[in-house]
Amino acid sequence: MAIAEKVKQVLKGGEFLIKNSSPQDVFTPEDFTEEQKMFADMANEFIDKRIMPNVERVDKQEPGLTEQLLQEAADLGLLGAAIPEAYGGMGVDINTESIITEILGGAHSFSVAYSAHTGIGTLPILYFGTEAQKQKYLPGLGSGAIKAAYCLTEPGSGSDALAALTKATLTEDGEHYMIEGQKMWITNSGFADLFTVFAKIDGTLFTAFLIDATAENVRLGAEEDKMGIKGSSTRQVFFEGVKVPKENILGEIGQGHKIAFNVLNIGRYKLSVMTAGSAKRACHKSVAYANERQQFGQSISGFGAIKEKLAEQAIRIYAVESANYRTSQLLEQKKEALVAKGEDPSIAKLLAAEEYAIECAMLKVLGSEVLDYVVDETVQIYGGNGYSEEYPAARAYRDARINRIFEGTNEINRLLTVNMTLKRAMKGQLDIMAPAMAVQKELMGIPDFGGDDNNDILAADIKAVAQAKKAILMVAGAAAQKLMKQLKSEQEIVMSIANMMIEVFAAESALLRTQKMIAVKGEAACSEHIDMTQVFISDAMERILSNGKRAVCAFAKGNELKMMLLGMKRFTKYPPYNSIAARRRVAAKMIAANKNPF
Ligand SMILES: Cc1cc2nc3c(=O)[nH]c(=O)nc-3n(C[C@H](O)[C@H](O)[C@H](O)COP(=O)(O)OP(=O)(O)OC[C@H]3O[C@@H](n4cnc5c(N)ncnc54)[C@H](O)[C@@H]3O)c2cc1C
Repeated sequence: MAIAEKVKQVLKGGEFLIKNSSPQDVFTPEDFTEEQKMFADMANEFIDKRIMPNVERVDKQEPGLTEQLLQEAADLGLLGAAIPEAYGGMGVDINTESIITEILGGAHSFSVAYSAHTGIGTLPILYFGTEAQKQKYLPGLGSGAIKAAYCLTEPGSGSDALAALTKATLTEDGEHYMIEGQKMWITNSGFADLFTVFAKIDGTLFTAFLIDATAENVRLGAEEDKMGIKGSSTRQVFFEGVKVPKENILGEIGQGHKIAFNVLNIGRYKLSVMTAGSAKRACHKSVAYANERQQFGQSISGFGAIKEKLAEQAIRIYAVESANYRTSQLLEQKKEALVAKGEDPSIAKLLAAEEYAIECAMLKVLGSEVLDYVVDETVQIYGGNGYSEEYPAARAYRDARINRIFEGTNEINRLLTVNMTLKRAMKGQLDIMAPAMAVQKELMGIPDFGGDDNNDILAADIKAVAQAKKAILMVAGAAAQKLMKQLKSEQEIVMSIANMMIEVFAAESALLRTQKMIAVKGEAACSEHIDMTQVFISDAMERILSNGKRAVCAFAKGNELKMMLLGMKRFTKYPPYNSIAARRRVAAKMIAANKNPF
């Protein structure tokens, strides 16, 4: 059947594990509309002309500069892109928002100020505000008149955010709450006008409050002396008996966790999108520097060791970019379906992010770790100059590291990936048990020694991805059966399963994108994308194998262990593949074009 004739199948959250998607179901950068490209050009021009020339001044926290640049971004519509038109924004769809977000992600410290304002600063009000609160704050948040910060973390509660000690006590007149507590690591706090603050009413009911930064008894700590993102304002915020009118409660009393966690789902997805933007810029610089730098009488880009690094940067970015836009489309489709049923568009977006919370958590890990890989190799390609603040690699390296820590650490997100999947399975929302049993049965049967049954250039990759899902189902199913409730505390096993899930999601996303592209442009025009996909998948199979082996060796014994190890090998098989030649071809194109392939 021709691709265009296939019925569109929208996967539910986590269903990628048990169902295959069609290439026509994914959204890819090759599908950007003219309007979306215009947004991308505008955002790129803003970064190139306004942020990059000022990047050192921003990092020195020159008074008023970040605020001014945020204002300039607001004037271009970039702060209000996702705010509905009814509140003065542009109300763009999620795919367009992702395109803008990705580009803004390449703006070093400014990216963090931007994302904290438009993400955790604005979204709680958009999703959970009363109509009056939305009318009061959203137009200003979009126009830049109000700058926002989000106060969840405390010295004693980071990952365990619900252990917060900040207290809210109803005043005698019954009209106000007194807020007492200390928040830590608050992005944008040095200049924010508005804080969303989480506190416990009577020490128990976790609740969000909107607090004016100029309110009496709000005190700021000194700027933190950070490893990177030095231009991003990060301070402690002290609430020393701050009187807040009760109409400033955001959402429902005792339901603050819903705000905190739901906003995090979108935040995680957006973080991955932003890290892809950063990684693309670092990759671009790597190619340009490698071409320019001469050693042993030639450009270092002529050396195989450097070609391998350049190609691998591009390959990993290709995978994460494909996974990002695949997810943005899932979010958009879910949102649209809910709106069609009469749901408010903002709530629909929130519910869509909840539906794909597993994908959002996986992307957070994938995006931040791809970026760390890319900037690390950028430093290496720059050699000694990579270690010098006179060159851009050092800043990119330092600034990248935070992404594995905030929006839930990568450990927490790996744990969430698996725990949410198992929870959905228990609730009957995700049928992984039946496919897991089928895999166990298949294991007992005679292996399929047949080759790939068609001439598709990606036939081995299609098969590998489908088989790798079986490997995950085998390991996760057996671990869940064997360890039951204890699995949660066997974190090393859970992390290995999460790694396998992330690899498969990324591999399948790259595969679907390339298949879709081939259907439009033909194989010859897609040779670089085919190479990138195949290198990623062949390596992913090895990574899945090692993670799976580690996990099964921890909980299985004797014949069962032997059987599962054989299964792991069988389900991660990839034909002999010359990845060195493929990486050389990818690098050759980058070197000739003197740019990254994106
Ligand atoms: C620059 C910066 C900006 C920030 N901006 C904001 C902001 O604007 N607003 C805000 O509210 N917060 C903000 N944060 C806080 C950030 O979200 C927290 O730092 C993060 O959630 C981790 O919490 P923690 O620092 O207390 O680390 P901890 O929770 O103490 O974690 C320490 C280590 O233990 C691991 N760990 C913790 N619990 C578990 C577990 N159950 N299982 C396995 N491993 C575990 C973690 O993964 C980590 O490796 C920011 C932080 C930084 C550094």
